[in-house]
Amino acid sequence: MTAMVKAEGVHKSFGQVEVLKGIDLEVATGEVFCLIGPSGSGKSTFLRCINHLEKINAGRLYVDGDLVGYRQKGDRLYELKDAEVALKRRDIGMVFQRFNLFPHKTALENVMEAPVQVRGVAKAAARERAGQLLERVGLSDKAGNYPSQLSGGQQQRVAIARALAMDPKLMLFDEPTSALDPELVGEVLDVMRQLAEEGMTMIVVTHEMGFAREVGDSLVFMDGGVVVEAGDPREVLTDPRHERTQSFLSKVL
Ligand code: ADP
Ligand code: MG
Repeated sequence: MTAMVKAEGVHKSFGQVEVLKGIDLEVATGEVFCLIGPSGSGKSTFLRCINHLEKINAGRLYVDGDLVGYRQKGDRLYELKDAEVALKRRDIGMVFQRFNLFPHKTALENVMEAPVQVRGVAKAAARERAGQLLERVGLSDKAGNYPSQLSGGQQQRVAIARALAMDPKLMLFDEPTSALDPELVGEVLDVMRQLAEEGMTMIVVTHEMGFAREVGDSLVFMDGGVVVEAGDPREVLTDPRHERTQSFLSKVL
């Protein structure tokens, strides 16, 4: 099994503050990898490192076998140029807590935007594909709506469709349902579950333990910038080994 993401001793500091203190983990291709942990433990920072939004200070981080941020020639590393980073980032879709849709564009236009602007896909083709993606997230009838005319759950589903429009090989979800009213959480998790069934490789930072248990293939509990515990979600959630995991779960379950 090839690893889609591999982290070896990943460190990240902001000034004097060390946020990631040596992360080792592996995400297999096709798996749903759930990341849980208290606020401030470094979950978002780790996702941002994978997505080239932050540079790591030490260790190695690979996506689909390629070093993130560097090209290796012999035993020397060369920093990637901005254009090379941009190319790599196309392969990774990211969905945030806040949906960040373009407010002055319709749902359909939001989904078409990156393929047209970044990939140079013809508008007609991009429009057709965007329509299919909106259908996939259950929003065919909202294609012409602006974000302000959509519920939070609908906006988040548009954001997922928008990420999928670039045909990513990896999807990163950073607490995608945390900003939603409780009654809207299910519709977003349903779309994510469907994506998982279709074989998408996903890293999901979430507080939705039901989703982690039912859909997750692996689960990692992070605290204070380290991986405290990792394993099968059902085992970790039912029978956590570490006191810190137990304490965290007793607060969220
Ligand atoms: P989590 O997503 O688990 O809540 P984060 O990765 O957002 O944690 O943050 C981990 C720590 O890193 C926090 O203490 C946060 O204040 C700090 N941090 C995150 N981004 C920055 C930044 N750009 N500059 C300085 N500190 C940061
Ligand atoms: Mg976060």
